[in-house]
Amino acid sequence: MTTRTPVTEFFPPRFGRLFPAREVFGVYDKAGCSLHVHYGDSPAFVDGGRTAWDVIWEQRDRVFDIAHTHPHGPDTFSSIDENSMRAIATGLGRPVRFWVLSPRVSRLRVVHPCQEPQDADVLFDPGEDNEPMWAARLRWDSRMRSAPPTINLAKLLRRFLP
Ligand SMILES: [Zn+2]
Repeated sequence: MTTRTPVTEFFPPRFGRLFPAREVFGVYDKAGCSLHVHYGDSPAFVDGGRTAWDVIWEQRDRVFDIAHTHPHGPDTFSSIDENSMRAIATGLGRPVRFWVLSPRVSRLRVVHPCQEPQDADVLFDPGEDNEPMWAARLRWDSRMRSAPPTINLAKLLRRFLP
């Protein structure tokens, strides 16, 4: 019996109706290697649940970045996200880097165990050079439509002025 390649392998996942956007959850080591990826069923919810926590715990020495997507926004963490993030950092007993990727921005927050967030979030434009290399893949897997680029007038002028 031959195994057929799923049709999704051939088509870009941007056909909204056939392949709707979904939340995706990923765990990465310092080199950017994926330790775990979990696909949600809806654009607003991904339940990594028990499996995700098991992976995080078993690979706790390697866990560096923990990310998920909000393919329809918002551009920041939800209150549920914040509770989960604090629980994970407390469980691991060390600061953890959390990311949320939306069409407009990639947001990084370092969460310390048993503490309210202290530092401001760091924001990256999607596709920016110093965004982690897994971010584009996570957006793609999430079937995220990119937001229209914001016009940076200063940058635009520099292109046309000597
Ligand atoms: Zn979220």
